[in-house]
Amino acid sequence: MPELPEVETVCRSLLQTVLDQYIRTVTVTRSRLLPNNTIEEFSEALCGHCFSAVHRRGKYILLDLDHDMTLVVHLRMTGKLLYQLSDSPLDKHSHIVFELDGGHRLCYNDVRQFGTLQLLPTALWTQLPGIAALGPEPLEDDFTAEWLMQQMVGKKQKVKAFLLDQHNIAGIGNIYADEILFQAHIHPEEPVCNLTDTETVQDLWFAIRDRLEQGIRYGGSSIKDYVDSLGQAGSFQKQHRAYGRGGQPCTECGCTMLKMISGGRSSCYCPNCQPRRDSSVLP
Ligand SMILES: [Zn+2]
Repeated sequence: MPELPEVETVCRSLLQTVLDQYIRTVTVTRSRLLPNNTIEEFSEALCGHCFSAVHRRGKYILLDLDHDMTLVVHLRMTGKLLYQLSDSPLDKHSHIVFELDGGHRLCYNDVRQFGTLQLLPTALWTQLPGIAALGPEPLEDDFTAEWLMQQMVGKKQKVKAFLLDQHNIAGIGNIYADEILFQAHIHPEEPVCNLTDTETVQDLWFAIRDRLEQGIRYGGSSIKDYVDSLGQAGSFQKQHRAYGRGGQPCTECGCTMLKMISGGRSSCYCPNCQPRRDSSVLP
């Protein structure tokens, strides 16, 4: 599933492509992708309008239109927004097609069809249930180590699950959670309340920002089929030190990386670099 760096990369590629482009026609062949609108009202509300801004909140892509409406897209597992020439072959998984006035089209392509596109007044998108409950953006200035410490004190949730919980921090998924914990030398199953010394919180805060920023810098991680709206794959998967590396040697100590289920997800970690804390000596 695309996480914050992949969604941010898609947004940046959309800024280069669809901004200020008018929508001529909209074709929808899977109504399940539109949980809040009928195909007719979705198409009618968009035709003749242009994309005026592109932004992101957590893993949501927000496409503002020139009539105070916003298209809220969540790619879920396999969703893609692809900007293509209108006369190029249409993939069978491109279930929503926006024909634009400049000879291009924007396709919503989704093999597994778990993604959603919701059209609503711009003033209301922050109230969508999935968005209203999101924690802070980890790359914004208000996400500080002090704030993180306050969220962690007294919390028994395991740290991997804590990072994956979108109510705590927006945008982190399984790939970046593994990478963050490896960098911060924290075991995925460690209860958050065992990690609240200043140095550990600072290390975790830094690792969150650093891994996500590096993910964006490399255009995201293309594990299966993730590409941006220009069809470009990311390359951060080549920098992965933990995710998907169970059974392989640790890049820091050479020890064999282990794999376990943590936070309901497959997790890879180094037993030597990411040891469990001894709870008997914790304050
Ligand atoms: Zn190691």
